[in-house]
Parts: sequence; structure tokens; C-alpha cells
Amino acid sequence: MTTQPARVQAPLAELGEGPVWLAAEQALYWVDIPAGLVHRLAADGSLTNWNVGQPVGAVVPRAGGGLVVAVRDGFMALDPATGAVTMLAAVEQDRPENRMNDGACDRAGRFYAGTMADDERPGAGTLYRLDPDLTVTTLVTGVSVSNGIGWSPDERLMYYIDSLTHQVDVFDYDPATGAIDGRRRFATVGEGDVVPDGLTVDSDGGVWVAVWGGSAVLRHDPDGRVRETLKLPAERVSSCEFGGPGLDRLYITTAAGPGEQAGALFVCEPGVTGQPGHPFRG
Ligand code: CA
Repeated sequence: MTTQPARVQAPLAELGEGPVWLAAEQALYWVDIPAGLVHRLAADGSLTNWNVGQPVGAVVPRAGGGLVVAVRDGFMALDPATGAVTMLAAVEQDRPENRMNDGACDRAGRFYAGTMADDERPGAGTLYRLDPDLTVTTLVTGVSVSNGIGWSPDERLMYYIDSLTHQVDVFDYDPATGAIDGRRRFATVGEGDVVPDGLTVDSDGGVWVAVWGGSAVLRHDPDGRVRETLKLPAERVSSCEFGGPGLDRLYITTAAGPGEQAGALFVCEPGVTGQPGHPFRG
């Protein structure tokens, strides 16, 4: 495997997003948002997908088995055996022009995911937390395009991207309660149509940010400085996540648009390892 991103044999996505590695299955899951598809790539290269019937912004494993998806209508369970989806917690049912977007679980199994308006209207989105008891808590309002979420290795910091601000922000994080506080700027990414999208935090605390419109993934040191740039043959780079048996492969999703491999899934070995992903524990 190369240190530079190479294409993985998988279908081109309209808007590939939300890669997540399931160690128990040694499989990668990701979504194609407008297509309503959840994709799975097994270690032997075999592919499976499920159509959840509405836009899907994120997928995470569920501790008791199966998957949880953040979709247009809220948080739903997806049974991979049957493809059936069932509502766990509705979100913004009074706002049909909004849908759920990126999300991730913390170590305690709380699922954080936000919303955005289909027309990306500024301020229309909200960041939510789904707790294991299925209660939904509003964390941040006035969000434009709620995107990447990740935690420092000691779980004292939560990184968060509202794409249209061009900022990667950071909160103080209380792992005991899941509360966030003290929002501040961690890094600024891009200008104009070039914006930060998804993110993941490696085991050394480096913050990897997918740059939508920028054909790149940036690794920031914990102090916010850019340490490394990975270039992609697709302009709309949407998200990234570590996977593989040693958590040393960085999987990168992209969307249709400019670039000869737009919409492809990529992988590389950048020389560091990721943190293990966490399931929803509800
Ligand atoms: Ca995104």
C-alpha cells in the first residue's frame, strides 16, 4: 500500500461520506448521502449495500448488534440482515427541508450528529446528542452545515466543523457527562467554496480534515498547525477515517464533481494509527 491515496474498488458515490471501521467485522462502512445508501466493504473485497429510503448522513455500529443511521428524519436503527429501518428518535420533524449530516460516537457510546438545510441556508442546522437511553439533547444551534466530529485521545477535547465558517473548532469535553463547553477556533481551512468537511483524530492527537473543494486531506498537529497534506484526484473530499487490522489505513471518501476519480473511495497508509471507533450503546 502506498503512502499516497489510491482508489479502492468500490462504486463511485454521488456524495460519499462517513467512513467508519468495524473492527469486529474487519469491514468498512460508509454512506452515499443523497442515494440513501449504506455501503460495506469486507476484508475480502466483497461489497454490500442497503438503501434506507431517505438521505443518510452517517452510520455507526450498535453495541447490541446492527447499525444506527442518521437520516433525514432522525436517528434510525438499520438491521443489516433484513435491511429494515426503525425510528429510534425523530429529529426536526417540523423542518422537512433539513436532514441529518455527519456524526460519530464517543467512548461512552453517545451518538453526536448534526443537521443542515438542503439549500445550505446559514444557521438552519443544529448539533444533537443521542444518548443510550434514546433521549436527544440539543447542543449547538445556528449551525450552517454540521460536519466532522472527533475526540482527542484523552477525550478532554471534542473537535467540530461547521463547514461554512471555514473553521475547525474545539470544545472542552466532559467524558463523564458528554457535555461540551468553551467553543474556540482550532484551525481555519480554505476560503470561498473550499471548506472543511469531515474529520478524524489519530492516536497521537493529530486532526485529519477532509477539504471539500480542495482535493486534499490535511493533518493538523494538536496545536493546530498543518503538518501534512494528502492530495486526491477528486476535488470534493468529504471525510476520512482510520481502519484496517492495525488501524493504520486512512480511508477517504469523495463526491461527484471535478476530478478524474470524483466519487471514489481512497485508502493510504500515512504512517500513524487511528483511534478505535465506538458503537452506539443504546
Ligand atoms: Ca460531510
